[in-house]
Amino acid sequence: MDDQDRLTKTFLDLLRINSPSKNERGVADYVKPRLVALGFEVEEDDTGKHIGGSAGNVIAFKRGNAPGARSIFLCCHMDTVEPTSDLEPVVSDGIVRSRGNTILGADNKAGIAAVLEGVEQFLACSSSHPDIQILFDVSEEIGLLGAKNLDKSKIRARLGYVLDTGAPVAGVVVSAPSHESIKVEIQGRAAHAGVEPEKGVSAIVAAANAIAKMKLGRIDFETTANIGVIEGGKARNIVPDKCIVRGEARSRNEDKLAEQVRHMTDLFAAEAAKIGAAAQVQVTREYSGFRFTKDDEVVRLAVEAARGIGIEPELQDGGGGSDANVFNEAGIPSVVLGVGYHNPHTPDEYISLQDLRKAAQLVASLLNSACKCASHDQHV
Ligand SMILES: [Zn+2]
Repeated sequence: MDDQDRLTKTFLDLLRINSPSKNERGVADYVKPRLVALGFEVEEDDTGKHIGGSAGNVIAFKRGNAPGARSIFLCCHMDTVEPTSDLEPVVSDGIVRSRGNTILGADNKAGIAAVLEGVEQFLACSSSHPDIQILFDVSEEIGLLGAKNLDKSKIRARLGYVLDTGAPVAGVVVSAPSHESIKVEIQGRAAHAGVEPEKGVSAIVAAANAIAKMKLGRIDFETTANIGVIEGGKARNIVPDKCIVRGEARSRNEDKLAEQVRHMTDLFAAEAAKIGAAAQVQVTREYSGFRFTKDDEVVRLAVEAARGIGIEPELQDGGGGSDANVFNEAGIPSVVLGVGYHNPHTPDEYISLQDLRKAAQLVASLLNSACKCASHDQHV
């Protein structure tokens, strides 16, 4: 089987393994023997037990033989969003799609296939290699649970690459926002809506008044906010005494994030108080942001790797969170790399086999660049 056939087969095999969050067992069982065959020490941690999932994070390490090379880790998540049941990939004109009734799951199985193939290709044609660590983690899509539960002392590499964003291939996400989630519980007073509505205090009205005055959506180029869920009330004829609102705010600027969260929190408190209700607001940090420049080593290595396969990479500001947020918070410089898929999390998700091949080449090129660091260092 030539490399291209092997890559396509790996990718299609992975797509056919149903693996929504907390059900990654099939993918873990598929990748572990592949990593062992490539000479990696492979372990699976006990995250599955902690989060009620069927598999833990797969952590693989291969000791390098190139003195002075940068040790790097490559990370992809094994879970996908849903719907996935009956997922059957369709390949036509070099494009892989679902049949339209499910997502495809190229997010993030294109990443896993590219890592397995890129590492195999590199090891087959290079006599020296850096320390390579591979993390295939679980339940990324439901709050980065795999990365958050990973014992960070198990990360033995100095620089991290999370292959978990779409087109273009080799795009480098150099920044990401911090993210706060907001849960508001508004307490009013129940009353019969027809007989004595004057005695009631509507928690829904308090929530509505606050939300109507709230700045939401794209606040500025680095800040966003949303109210995503609102629940409340028991019956049409009862003034609702309780309303729960869930929202979020994100920003790549911590001051702006704090200001936006304060704006939202204050409005809920003020509008509730105006009509005699009370709002209890709980703010939870989901993850913290990061920002690198083109001069940071983790970015320089990615740029050199992309150029090594003839791509001048785009340096992008990210709007979402990823496992890279968690690793950066733990002090391990990490960026996100583009794998080339389009329309993730939708039935229109697709990827071209040509882009998938480039993503695998990027992985090989990254290992090559990590090796070359050794000789650079001798000159500086
Ligand atoms: Zn993803």
